[in-house]
Amino acid sequence: SGERDGLPTRSPFTVHPLIHLYARSSPVDILLLGPPGAGKGTQGALLAEALGLPKFATGDLLRDAVKRGTPLGLQARALMEAGHLVGDDLILGVVRDELAKPEAAHGVIFDGVIRTIPQAEGMAALLAERGRSMTHVLFFEIADSVILDRLIKRREIEGRADDDPAAVAIRLAAYRNQTAPVLAWYEERCGVTVIDAVGSVDEVAARVRAAVAPA
Ligand code: AMP
Repeated sequence: SGERDGLPTRSPFTVHPLIHLYARSSPVDILLLGPPGAGKGTQGALLAEALGLPKFATGDLLRDAVKRGTPLGLQARALMEAGHLVGDDLILGVVRDELAKPEAAHGVIFDGVIRTIPQAEGMAALLAERGRSMTHVLFFEIADSVILDRLIKRREIEGRADDDPAAVAIRLAAYRNQTAPVLAWYEERCGVTVIDAVGSVDEVAARVRAAVAPA
């Protein structure tokens, strides 16, 4: 508090303390990995707020495109509703567009954006074009039985077509077959932090913040 040279020395803005932990000389890109229902969306939003970074979720973008009936939405709709992954080229196209936005310049929280090894490779190339690489990869670990409970509850609240039991089974299979191997890919390259995703929203959020706080 107080004044120096007639200027206020305290910012009039309320900023979350974590923002100050990063020197922000280089972008902070954080990938959230984990099965459907692990809480990536909820925790990603909280982390984005805490770090003052945009959150990008391909699932949200695609759902919006389906709702608006855009060409992207028409391409993705049937696959999404059945619980299958959409194509890698489609995903890498939207990632390229996202990274080109000025608000992505300081880093992005990527929520569920990478689901296959070709996507991981494509993302690495797109980040490298900008002199960037994934700063943190967080894996949300949770048992299948807990996932099923959460998705049943979410279906009651949000009414997502792909939270019905048949689509959930296909999504879990897609996760196991195509997305789980992505974990090892990142482990070899930059390391992965395992987050225990079972607990209250606040408990998990504290684990996430601890994982990304600079040493
Ligand atoms: P989510 O909201 O993350 O559960 O994603 C919903 C659906 O969108 C998924 O089941 C897929 O059909 C599609 N989707 C979202 N992100 C991707 C991705 N990176 N690769 C392939 N399909 C995706």
